[in-house]
Amino acid sequence: MLKGKTAVITGGTRGIGFAIAKKYLENGANVAIAGSRQETVDNALSQLSEYKDRVMGICPDLCDPQKVAEAFSSVKEKFGSFDIMVNNAGISSRTSLYEYTLEEFTKIMDINLKAVFVCSQAAARIMKEQGGGTIINTSSMVSKNGQPSGCGYPATKFAVDGITISLARELAKDKIRVNAVAPGVTKTDMVAALPKEMVDRISAGIPLGRPGEPEDVANTYLYLASDMASYVTGVILRVDGAAMN
Ligand code: NAD
Repeated sequence: MLKGKTAVITGGTRGIGFAIAKKYLENGANVAIAGSRQETVDNALSQLSEYKDRVMGICPDLCDPQKVAEAFSSVKEKFGSFDIMVNNAGISSRTSLYEYTLEEFTKIMDINLKAVFVCSQAAARIMKEQGGGTIINTSSMVSKNGQPSGCGYPATKFAVDGITISLARELAKDKIRVNAVAPGVTKTDMVAALPKEMVDRISAGIPLGRPGEPEDVANTYLYLASDMASYVTGVILRVDGAAMN
């Protein structure tokens, strides 16, 4: 479904991002995995060695426009195009308002929101010049109703929805589609870090009767990146088993 296309996936070293990388590679794409450290990037690449001619690693500071632009140029240079930007890197928080430091709040804003802005801008500049492309952001089920602690996390995901819909409208004229996927509880390290009783409570309330697997979520990124979604832009696609958090 993606033969000949090139994707950059932030947070592609594990969890949902790694599942997207694998799914894209299985479907013929070239993939650049963007991680925060060379060591985790190398570890992800070693797990994808069967695709070694179509996969590379980069680890720019995602909030540094210059570093991101240089890294994206190197991807375009290696593979010849840059068609799909997946803004997936993210961290979560359960900290109460009373304990929240400005440092923690700023950190989550940087990774979950500022990096989406910086990477979308750098990607769109290349895509506009080559005649089109698509951007897919990772939102969350909490972008609808918030959550009762860790207010920085839903704040960033509401903002991700806002930038998604706004850029869909702004970039349509440049043939760049912009969508987001809003996963529910998905079995990754992020969820493994939560208290078990919290995960059990949330899972019990999921109408489909189970948490999502990274592959359930990755399948929607495949659809949105492909020509099957050629008239789909500005959508926040929930992939949560109809959960109401
Ligand atoms: P994860 O913790 O397994 O993966 C997060 C990824 O982000 C890792 O690859 C990590 O290296 C990367 N990352 C973190 N900080 C970074 C930085 N400064 N620079 C570059 N990369 C950085 O978690 P996940 O569950 O796979 O999360 C992926 C996305 O899915 C996140 O945006 C998260 O908010 C979202 N999400 C997850 C769930 C869930 O239940 N797992 C639900 C809704 C949304």
